[in-house]
Amino acid sequence: MAKLKEVGYAFVDPEFGALATSAEGEGWGRLADLDRIVQKVKLLVLGSQELAGKKVLVTAGPTREPIDPVRFLTNYSSGKMGFALAEAAMLRGASVVLITGPNHLPKIEGVRTVEIETARELKAAVEREYPDTDILLMAAAVADYEAKKVAPHKLKKSGANLTIELQRAPDILASLGKKKVDCIHVGFALETEKGHANALKKLHAKNLDLIVLNNQLEAGAGFAGDTNVVSILTKDGQAEKLPQLPKSEVAEAILDRVCALVQQRLERVAAG
Ligand code: C5P
Repeated sequence: MAKLKEVGYAFVDPEFGALATSAEGEGWGRLADLDRIVQKVKLLVLGSQELAGKKVLVTAGPTREPIDPVRFLTNYSSGKMGFALAEAAMLRGASVVLITGPNHLPKIEGVRTVEIETARELKAAVEREYPDTDILLMAAAVADYEAKKVAPHKLKKSGANLTIELQRAPDILASLGKKKVDCIHVGFALETEKGHANALKKLHAKNLDLIVLNNQLEAGAGFAGDTNVVSILTKDGQAEKLPQLPKSEVAEAILDRVCALVQQRLERVAAG
């Protein structure tokens, strides 16, 4: 191993746990988890140091807003877009924190993951991580409304209609937009009509640097699938429509634009 390391080979170390036979018991010798092996290969083949020294905070997935102890309001977000962004940022050398709602996706090696359920929990987790963040990628599909009162017991059915009163959930990106100093903020807009106009309005209202627009009704776009069709809009109203791409490639395209912004800022600082 020493010789191979010397000539530049990388290793994925074995893991601790039950070994091949019961006689061997437990120890350091298990084949590494396959996700870990794949991640290491990706890092070596695709990795760069473009975002080295930067902290990237990514939010992903849906939120769940309880209405009673056994029911909640949510949406179809799978978390795939946010996970793809977190992985892509990690492969560019960033220190990545991923705050995610419920999902069925494998953990990403090398990304610190924090799990939340409600919009309020997401807000608290984001606010804890935000102070030293350089880039915020807000891909979570945050609830716009929460139950005004969460019933302490399971709601019983009766012959009558049931009305549940909802109130606005906190808008995390909008409130961080007011505090923003140097951090680059990227938001997502899922629109089903008047996409560009609505997305641009959100970009300004939430003080964003970029907004990524997608239309759930378009084939190959939106929540659950492995591909997305997005337009990336900038503050000056420029819009770039990307073709249908795997979410991993959409993530790369978004990070390319973010890295260009980081570079522009560096040049501006250097120029005084
Ligand atoms: O829901 P809306 O279209 O306003 O979402 C636009 C952006 O704002 C998204 O990036 C989303 O994550 C964020 N958002 C938020 N808090 C909310 C609603 C949305 O941070 N309560």
